[in-house]
Amino acid sequence: MKKIIQTREIPVIGRYDVVVCGGGPAGWIAAIAAARSGAKTAMVEQFGFAGGMATAGLVLPISVFTYNDKLVCGGIPWEFVRRMETVGGAQVEKPLGNVAHDPEVYKLTAQRMLLEAGVELHYHCTVTGCCHKNGHLTHIIMDTRSGPQALCAMYVIDATGDGAICNYMNVPMQKKTMDMQPASLIFCLGNVDTDKLGVDHHNKQGVNMHHEPIQKALQELAQTEDVPQFGGPWFCHILHDGFTLVNATRTFANMADHADATAAECKLREDAYKLTELFRRVDPAFKNCYLAYTAPICGTRETRHIIGSHILTGEEYLNQVHFEDAVARSAHPIDIHSAYDTRQRITFLKDAAYIPYRSMIVPGFDNLIVPSRCLSADETASASIRVQAPIMCLGQAAGLAAAMCTKDHISIHDVDIPTLRQTLISWGVDI
Ligand SMILES: Cc1cc2nc3c(=O)[nH]c(=O)nc-3n(C[C@H](O)[C@H](O)[C@H](O)COP(=O)(O)OP(=O)(O)OC[C@H]3O[C@@H](n4cnc5c(N)ncnc54)[C@H](O)[C@@H]3O)c2cc1C
Repeated sequence: MKKIIQTREIPVIGRYDVVVCGGGPAGWIAAIAAARSGAKTAMVEQFGFAGGMATAGLVLPISVFTYNDKLVCGGIPWEFVRRMETVGGAQVEKPLGNVAHDPEVYKLTAQRMLLEAGVELHYHCTVTGCCHKNGHLTHIIMDTRSGPQALCAMYVIDATGDGAICNYMNVPMQKKTMDMQPASLIFCLGNVDTDKLGVDHHNKQGVNMHHEPIQKALQELAQTEDVPQFGGPWFCHILHDGFTLVNATRTFANMADHADATAAECKLREDAYKLTELFRRVDPAFKNCYLAYTAPICGTRETRHIIGSHILTGEEYLNQVHFEDAVARSAHPIDIHSAYDTRQRITFLKDAAYIPYRSMIVPGFDNLIVPSRCLSADETASASIRVQAPIMCLGQAAGLAAAMCTKDHISIHDVDIPTLRQTLISWGVDI
């Protein structure tokens, strides 16, 4: 491949204690935790709103805050849910603590909380690189509407989901031992008879809530005609009558590769239309439905996994090993979607699992924290941690840890774990 060299002068437009790259569930909660804990904080996000997969990917519901009705993912994420609830933008389903929500209320509530905390927002800015030496980051480079610009950062939180900063810094990555989980383009159907549809609430512990009759009907149709590859399907209410979000399309794609991501977007948009047509035929609730819109971006379940100070294993996870540096919990089952067909392997937990701080930090990198779905856990443990409530809780711990380190300019490896944990517990995290 031919390569070119380009050198350019880039203005440094801000200096921060903490720069959070990515405003998804991990990032925007991390930014609030850092700012509320006294750090001068910036958040860089390629879209014009926060939420990542929850808003840009239309991934609903937010899973899961509770185990057998006991809150395990408390603190800022739960405060956010309650705040959405008070304006009718969220519905908490018991006993799982799954949260169906209105994505527009999500965007507005997150934005208000970020601004109230004093986070400086850099929207429409894509992080394209960074300056670093010997594992120490000094600047984040971003493409902005005003051209390339840089932010000077004392601590950086990589919450890009795919570990973009980790990739630029050559953080070691785990080798894949199983197929990457598939990408899915979520879409919204209008004019659905939502009362007739019934099963769109996740209201039972230990049960997978896909729509079984429609799954069977599509599988039967596939014997005689062309049915696109699908998962579930899962339907989720966005709290407006007549509308339902559909999680059903799927294809294998490495979403950290731009050619794969482009192909996935094109294929899944076609499939969303085909599936809508099939839903109309197989279930009366969809008889008069129409495809109202697709998510702005195709959803990514999995790409890279870093090698951090501790790789959390599926075995530790399933046995609820309690780590001395546990900073978050996840009550979601291990949830592995097949890349090539409808199957889904689910292992329900005996209790909520613990996630250690060391899974967010990397030996030899002293000012980088990674709370996103690419954190240091094997593919089995990651298949549970990746859902939003635990990811938000990890973001919360990362933001607090970074802010604590700014006070004495120490390495993120030297953060005072008992104080970190005690503060998180006082915020409502069950660790
Ligand atoms: C189809 C599907 C179904 C799912 N179902 C559920 C479910 O039912 N319940 C549940 O809780 N979870 C579910 N998930 C998982 C969950 O949505 C994600 O794992 C979670 O959002 C990960 O959060 P994150 O903050 O790590 O990453 P993301 O949500 O991906 O957020 C990353 C953010 O970083 C930004 N970003 C990325 N790169 C850059 C860059 N270079 N510069 C600037 N900004 C950047 C992105 O725009 C985004 O806002 C599902 C996911 C998918 C794809």
